[in-house]
Amino acid sequence: MSNGHSDNLSRMEVLEVASGVHHVTASRVSWQLIVEGESVTVVDAGWPRDYGRVVASLEQIGHSPASVDSILLTHAHVDHMGAAEKMRSLHGIPVKAHHEESELARGLRHEAIATAKVTSQMWRPSVLRFALISLGRGGTSVTPLTEIETFQDGATLATPGSPIAIHVPGHTSGSTAYHLEHRGVLITGDALVTTHLYTQEVGTRVMPADFNHDHGLAIRSLDRLIDISANVVLTGHGPPYEGSPKRAVEEATARL
Ligand SMILES: [Zn+2]
Repeated sequence: MSNGHSDNLSRMEVLEVASGVHHVTASRVSWQLIVEGESVTVVDAGWPRDYGRVVASLEQIGHSPASVDSILLTHAHVDHMGAAEKMRSLHGIPVKAHHEESELARGLRHEAIATAKVTSQMWRPSVLRFALISLGRGGTSVTPLTEIETFQDGATLATPGSPIAIHVPGHTSGSTAYHLEHRGVLITGDALVTTHLYTQEVGTRVMPADFNHDHGLAIRSLDRLIDISANVVLTGHGPPYEGSPKRAVEEATARL
């Protein structure tokens, strides 16, 4: 990749992929906004220094933190829960996650990535770039949540989009996908991604083993997504995937 400006930190992209469902990408991480009437559900909250961007993404679709009903976490890694505590503490927005993710989100337990192995990939320009982005966006100083609401697998959450929580452990213990049944959208977080974090190659895949708490479990959890009815899959890293979860999973499996 020769374009040194391709990760321009001021750049943020907001794409409406289905009625009222927006996929936001900035600094190689994504979050989603789900609108229903005057209310919004935010799924994930970027890096710690992405608070301004989360707010800007809401403003870009004509909303503000005041219209956010809740923040749902797909998982409690620093690039996904970054601005969640600030959104919660400044605006009183409840943050919700699967009960097995609660201790991670509150900083009481860690499921660290294999840092040494990731560091050994630093010769790759895209990995070095990701590490620099992480540093620049506050990736070394996660703000744990002081309050979190939890739910169980299969719960239909009372927030815009009525997301159904699907527990997909492996990347982390409480990793969760959200099915927006009436919008034909599945949000997978990092249980299934559309860009390779090392090479930036586009295509559905599970995260590299170095990033998964339990890689084998992450692969087995894909089975939980196969029968879900949706036309679009939105992930934590990479562009929207147009197609069924079944096809996305088959393609990810073929790349193992
Ligand atoms: Zn991630």
